[in-house]
Amino acid sequence: MTTSFNSEQQVVSSDGFFQKLASGVPGVLFTYWLSADGSSHHYPFVSHQVLALFGVDSSTLNETADAVFSIIHPEDAGDLVQTIQDSAQTLVPWRYRARLKLINGEYQWFEVHARPERQPDGSTVFYGQFHNIQHYKDLEQNLRESEAEFSFQAGFQKLMARLSTEFINLGFGTIDQCIEEVLKSIGEFFAVDRAYLYEFSDDYQFMNNTHEWCGDGVASIIGDQQAVPIEDFHWWHQQIGSMVTDNRVVFIEDVDQLPSEATPERSLLKTQGVCSMFCVPIRVRGKVTGFFGVDSLRRRCWREDQADLLIIVSGLLSGALDRFRLEDELLNQSIRDPLTGLHNRRYLMPRLGEMLGRNSRLDEQFTLAMFDIDQFKGINDSIGHLGGDYVLQKFAGILMKKTRPMDIVARFGGEEFIVIFNAVDRSNVRQLVLRMLETVRNDTFIFNGEPVDVTVSVGMASVAEFAEGQPTPDAMISLADNRLYQSKQAGRDCLTDASGTFRL
Ligand code: GH3
Ligand code: MG
Ligand code: MG
Repeated sequence: MTTSFNSEQQVVSSDGFFQKLASGVPGVLFTYWLSADGSSHHYPFVSHQVLALFGVDSSTLNETADAVFSIIHPEDAGDLVQTIQDSAQTLVPWRYRARLKLINGEYQWFEVHARPERQPDGSTVFYGQFHNIQHYKDLEQNLRESEAEFSFQAGFQKLMARLSTEFINLGFGTIDQCIEEVLKSIGEFFAVDRAYLYEFSDDYQFMNNTHEWCGDGVASIIGDQQAVPIEDFHWWHQQIGSMVTDNRVVFIEDVDQLPSEATPERSLLKTQGVCSMFCVPIRVRGKVTGFFGVDSLRRRCWREDQADLLIIVSGLLSGALDRFRLEDELLNQSIRDPLTGLHNRRYLMPRLGEMLGRNSRLDEQFTLAMFDIDQFKGINDSIGHLGGDYVLQKFAGILMKKTRPMDIVARFGGEEFIVIFNAVDRSNVRQLVLRMLETVRNDTFIFNGEPVDVTVSVGMASVAEFAEGQPTPDAMISLADNRLYQSKQAGRDCLTDASGTFRL
């Protein structure tokens, strides 16, 4: 030590001394010389670490700096030269971040700091260091990823909270509208191309696409996906088996990778443009009734936790469908007559009110017919109450058969029934009802092996008869009831309307 520092000037200026000094500093120390016109440059001094780090010899760099510039990642080289020239001109310290190619071929992030100093001949010398900042870049990236992950998870939770609330309050209207909104929201959230619901037939022989959402520009396939026979697709049939028995999801990451036994499935999916899909079973009251799925038209990876999220969505749909099926049944119980299965008076009266409202607004015509089985007390007396019940059921069946789905058929009370004929001309309704009377008269009602003669009488009222103001439901029923009484007076098995009493 003492000898080396005898002449401080000599030791300090020696390259060996600087190399020793630099060997203890992380990164690479350097001086960088740039000619006044910017056309040539080199490193008068650069620590030997450049060789171990980048495979570039420091003696080469003493001649020209080009070797360092050639290991900069092309994406990071953009304004490099410009920033050096700016710094040389303004003498503001130079700072730059770029990926540099290591000796093993891998790129890592480095940061360079250098202080420029103008030389008497107009050239510039930079004194500086570049050091590895990959560690910070990794941290930064992890942070960004975990922030993105956090906001993804938070976004999903918010979405699910909104959708469950909408389901509970039926915020979107009907159950179908709610399901469609769920498919759309989930489809957009997961950035897939289609989201859908299928329902299996009770014997799992067929499946129906019941609801579908398609992203922008994605073709709808719901029209072709009705009563699709499952048996044609053996592989898919097996998958459904495992859905049904083990509650398993079906996941196809890449349609091209499907096994050879899934050839029909692969070609179908290919015609639908599907590249990747994910299906989760829907369970209603413990039974798998269908599945919820998403399609992607391009290959995509599904992280395991995203799969979990789709399972949560299918749980939401299952729960909603479960609840709505139950409510539907309860509602049906309250508006249907258990003996005949027809609607009851509780259903009929508000419908009649709505139809009267529509008539006054839109002039929709309809005719109400009140049917009453003739001498029903006598039927009960002769064949017993159960026999009477049988006659009521069979008569209800005839009413259902002779009317259209758009008509309303209700059991109004004991052996009285009301049919509202929608959008049929009044005289046509008369012919229709006369033929119904004929059918009942000629039909063979057989109870306990004994034939029973059954006839009915009818009173009818049309909404068009109430020219002055809109009638109330009660007023309309009362008019029909009066005419029914006239039919009874006229000898039964006939109908009475505004034009009189008729029999075929
Ligand atoms: P009319 O020809 O004048 O209509 O005579 P009717 O005997 O049919 O009329 P009435 O109103 O006197 O008798 C109706 C009977 O229907 C009385 C009641 O016991 C019976 N009834 C009401 N509901 C039921 C039911 O659910 N099952 C059975 N078996 N009978 C019922
Ligand atoms: Mg009666
Ligand atoms: Mg009667």
